[in-house]
Amino acid sequence: MDVVALGELLIDFTPYTGPHGSLFEKNPGGAPANVLAALAKQGKKTAFIGKVGEDHFGHYLEDILRQNGISTEGLVFSETENTTLAFVELDESGDRSFTFYRKPGADYMLSWEEVNQDLIRSARIFHYGSISMTHEPAASATLAAVRLAKEHGLLISYDPNLRLRLWPDPETAKARIREGLPYADVLKLSEEEMEFLTDERDLNAGTARIHNEFGISLICVTRGPAGCFYRAGALTGEVPAYAVDVVDTTGAGDAFLGGVLGRLLDETTNLQQLTAEQYKEIIAYGNATGSLAATSRGGIPSMPSPEQVMNLICKN
Ligand code: ATP
Repeated sequence: MDVVALGELLIDFTPYTGPHGSLFEKNPGGAPANVLAALAKQGKKTAFIGKVGEDHFGHYLEDILRQNGISTEGLVFSETENTTLAFVELDESGDRSFTFYRKPGADYMLSWEEVNQDLIRSARIFHYGSISMTHEPAASATLAAVRLAKEHGLLISYDPNLRLRLWPDPETAKARIREGLPYADVLKLSEEEMEFLTDERDLNAGTARIHNEFGISLICVTRGPAGCFYRAGALTGEVPAYAVDVVDTTGAGDAFLGGVLGRLLDETTNLQQLTAEQYKEIIAYGNATGSLAATSRGGIPSMPSPEQVMNLICKN
């Protein structure tokens, strides 16, 4: 296995205003699975670890993962909780907010005993986020899985994906998200997430603070159409995104990370061996993957092929 990701898997109901009023379209949701979909599209072997309900939605999500080349051997079905449902609201600028129907949803109820540990041991990269750390027992299961991956020498990738509404208060969110940082080798943040974690707006200073405190090898701060600022130890750089016709940016950040992790699998997962030139090329690949994902709707279905990514890079 190349990459195993653990985390939330749910249904996003996306609103539409049609001839008969507002309709909600059923879409697969959950950032870790988006990252795997980006990697699977690049030909990598991927597996998802998480929990859904033993219901129509849970089986729909299982089918979607399979159809996108993601192994579901680590997917667990709950007899007692339903698949988590999230209703998406779009504001005037197209930014999304979520209303969750969970209390608790199946994804929160993943326990350490249910985590397929062999899958983790068999992989080269382990990826996780912070949404599975908002409630027990999934929070403990997530951190135990990260520790197992670390013990077995996997490259650890972390995308906190801050959703304040899922936490009791911002202080708890900050403390728990920071608990995940000491394990990470690759960290993907938005500018808001970096500021939330460091109280620092300046990208150089904020990433330096995280690097000095946690020793994370590669920190990427993605900035939508402005591309990515990155820090690898003392090395920093900025790589622009690609100008594209944007349709829907859902999953662009996950596509970016999938692109970066895919290139690390091709080059080396020992980040100390990478040159400045290689870092720049890897980040550019992530940007191209993210920019292309923004040109079509949805998360999982919008992930580009390696040919599309290379075409975009070569054209610029
Ligand atoms: P999300 O949570 O929606 O996945 P994010 O905040 O994690 O988003 P972004 O910074 O929006 O991630 O996007 C990741 C990458 O995708 C950017 O670094 C950039 O390369 C590309 N990208 C995103 N939006 C655009 C855009 N409007 N035009 C071109 N490229 C974009």
